[in-house]
Amino acid sequence: MHYKQITLPANKSIALVAHDNKKPDIVRWCENHTEDLKKHTLYATGTTGTVISQATGLEINKLISGPLGGDQQVGSLITEGKVDFLIFFWDPFEPMPHDPDVKALLRIAAVWNVPVACNIISADFMVASPLFNQEFQRSVPDYESYMKSRT
Ligand code: PGA
Repeated sequence: MHYKQITLPANKSIALVAHDNKKPDIVRWCENHTEDLKKHTLYATGTTGTVISQATGLEINKLISGPLGGDQQVGSLITEGKVDFLIFFWDPFEPMPHDPDVKALLRIAAVWNVPVACNIISADFMVASPLFNQEFQRSVPDYESYMKSRT
């Protein structure tokens, strides 16, 4: 795979997803970082977005609920370059009806070199980074050379 560099803008697009047992964690995390998050564009799966905006007043672009395809919508936004960061508090103790979608989302985030936080401490480190509010160079798959190598 060939990679190219793209510039992550200072104002990032952040996707927020949490399984039901982890919703209290993501709400608490968003409450603790409301001011930091206000500087960025936020997306969330349906229920996660609703509980976060009710608790914090943050403006969130709500996608469909995860089990109905919201995780796949987030993955699709990643491939389109419209999501730069993923905060995904998945539940390690409960099997999910949409496990294949969960796995697919984690895979597509790895493919596109998107920073992923799967728990509060990782998300805390992410926000604490001086790079959180700065431009940054990120390598992403070079689709044109990928297609040339296949045709
Ligand atoms: P939800 O979806 O925010 O609609 O609960 C999250 C998920 O289960 O992937």
